[in-house]
Amino acid sequence: MSKQTEFKRTKIIATVGPATNSYDAIYKLINAGANGLRLNFSHATYETASQQILWIRQASHELDKPVAIFQDLQGPKIRLGEVIDNHYEVKTGDELQLRFNAAHEGNTLPTQYDLSTKVKPGERVLMFDGRIKTVTTDVSDGTVTVRVENDGVLMSRKGINLPDTDFSGAILTEKDYADIDFGIDHDIDYVGLSFVHSAYDIHLLRGYLAEKGSRAQIMAKVETSSAIQEDELEKIVEASDAVMVARGDLAVEVGAEIVPVVQRQILTLCQERAKVSIVATQMMMNMVNEPEPTRAEVNDVSHAAIMGADCVMLSDETANGKYPIKTVESMKRILLYTQTHIPSHSLANPQYLTSHSGAISSAAVQLAKELHVDAIVAETKTGATAHHLAAYRPLRPIISVTSDPRVAQQLTLLYATKSFLRPDGEKAGLKLAHDLVEKGYLPRPATVVLVSGRQPGVEGGTDTIRVRTIE
Ligand code: PGA
Ligand code: MN
Repeated sequence: MSKQTEFKRTKIIATVGPATNSYDAIYKLINAGANGLRLNFSHATYETASQQILWIRQASHELDKPVAIFQDLQGPKIRLGEVIDNHYEVKTGDELQLRFNAAHEGNTLPTQYDLSTKVKPGERVLMFDGRIKTVTTDVSDGTVTVRVENDGVLMSRKGINLPDTDFSGAILTEKDYADIDFGIDHDIDYVGLSFVHSAYDIHLLRGYLAEKGSRAQIMAKVETSSAIQEDELEKIVEASDAVMVARGDLAVEVGAEIVPVVQRQILTLCQERAKVSIVATQMMMNMVNEPEPTRAEVNDVSHAAIMGADCVMLSDETANGKYPIKTVESMKRILLYTQTHIPSHSLANPQYLTSHSGAISSAAVQLAKELHVDAIVAETKTGATAHHLAAYRPLRPIISVTSDPRVAQQLTLLYATKSFLRPDGEKAGLKLAHDLVEKGYLPRPATVVLVSGRQPGVEGGTDTIRVRTIE
């Protein structure tokens, strides 16, 4: 098998956590196929995050493989506080008082967030991944009273979901702002916004990042019922750079049966607009404890690739699992097998790509297909050309070359895009193609479609398509 078949087109994001908290483990994750690394700020301390960022950059440099660092903000993730003996049984019809920062006593349970500022009577309060369902009966200063609707057990620090509650205008918490500031100083490529309710949340974050001079891109995590309202979802995709189908919380908030349909909608909306799409949560969950995924999980990963997702994501599997590296290897195997047998779903015409660079990209992908070339090589300044090429879901790799490290790192999450950092120059793309033939990543002879601008390194100047054969 030649090396070129090793370019996988669907990308992998792996979460770094206790199971992978070392230089060695991070090196192996990247080497095994991870293109992006997620740092989860629901758990990370600044000390561990700083260290992990240094390890990631060092390993990526060592492997000559740019990777994206993705800072996942906690957002308004609401949790219970400490529960006595970590065990509190509830029965249908019980009344509970949820009180901000209180101590657990009788039917008064502590919460780490002041629910009374947001929740209204009649709204549902779901606890412990939706296992305990309750309805709000009364709200007073600092306390929300709820009626329990099913029997079960509550434990310390379990998550609370509020599918009916209006969070408009205030999803970023003080902790989030502090975390964003940390990210701005620490070489982050993507900022993930949890529990997005509306496009307004994205605009707010974008304004804040711009004000601070950050070039981090924004990933919207779709995991609330407000976010999936028809018009809103489209606006959220439009406002974001990347969109995650955050299936864990989404299933709790809207019902698991709705998630596959929303997943399809998001993948289509993203492809139409050249935005990065990510399918996340429970993809290879069995591998947290077992050395193999279930048949259903293999099918899930394969199907996400066929549906044209840019990325598939691993959470607990690589953060806390017993087989983090094996999981990435196994996921990569599924993606490679799928891509050699079934093309990813591609829209006949991504309707929102009307710009100059969209038209050039469409022509380049068409040419690549008709000539059966080995790769499409794109010289790109801001990454826009690579985004547009990827939106057409080409069957051959997109070799992108940029002189901007931030862009090179961000492009690693794009469908089929193999990102390289090289100096600007008249023949940057062609030189890189020669290099890749030399190293055996492209066959000899290799035919490539080159997409570039007449003035290298100039933004928005992409206007040239050439076909070259490298002997
Ligand atoms: P989380 O987000 O892992 O940060 O909760 C993803 C999800 O809810 O699926
Ligand atoms: Mn979530």
